[in-house]
Amino acid sequence: MVITFLGTGTSSGVPRVGCKCPVCHSADSFDKRLRTSALIDTGTERILIDCGPDFRQQMLSYGKSDIDALLVTHSHYDHLGGLDDLRPFCHRNGGFPIYCSADVSTDIHTRMPYCFGELHYPNSPTFDIHIIDDNPFKTNRTEVIPLPVMHTPNLRIFGYRIGALSYITDCKEMPGHTLELLRGTDTLVINALRHEEHPSHMNLQQAIDVINAVKPRRALLTHISHQMGLHSEFRRMLPLGIEPAHDGLTVEI
Ligand SMILES: [Zn+2]
Ligand SMILES: [Zn+2]
Ligand SMILES: [Zn+2]
Repeated sequence: MVITFLGTGTSSGVPRVGCKCPVCHSADSFDKRLRTSALIDTGTERILIDCGPDFRQQMLSYGKSDIDALLVTHSHYDHLGGLDDLRPFCHRNGGFPIYCSADVSTDIHTRMPYCFGELHYPNSPTFDIHIIDDNPFKTNRTEVIPLPVMHTPNLRIFGYRIGALSYITDCKEMPGHTLELLRGTDTLVINALRHEEHPSHMNLQQAIDVINAVKPRRALLTHISHQMGLHSEFRRMLPLGIEPAHDGLTVEI
């Protein structure tokens, strides 16, 4: 199984529009982060996690021509704003398979009424939405375990585990029962926004605390803000086994 990081930046991306900080002005390609998303190739299926506003650019950059399913973590724009650009992948009978919570499904219908039923506009994407709950589910060929995490005290979202890979973004609080679901993870992807605390995202120390509790062989940080500092400097301060992901990074599990 291989994961490709299509984007590793927070909601504004890095560089942030109009920002004059050294990270946003860095010439290092590792300091350029599109909105967070990943593509997992299990060997039999290619599964996209989140489809943000940079999706089109990500597909063009990495030359990915086929995707079999989308898992959505939550419906914030930085994770779902690229849905319309799924059009080239919507050739399947019945529409492109999307796995998401009931709340996310409602948001998709509200934002994109022209994709459904009588309002369907010619050539707009067609979706086959599978509503998931906390129980493990199967895409066409892949077993997936939802990982419920708290983005804010009122917003419960999903990370996902596929085999020995666990992928969590936009988590602020990790429930104890989800920590149990993470046991035995070989490669853990987890969000770390910046050094200072934040109301809806883990900071670096909070992410390290979860990594220390899970003890994966390898941990990769994502959903990174310009406030984390230069990639070249920030990666040197991380404990062994923890590294920042970067756009285009591929990791074999
Ligand atoms: Zn986000
Ligand atoms: Zn900046
Ligand atoms: Zn979010």
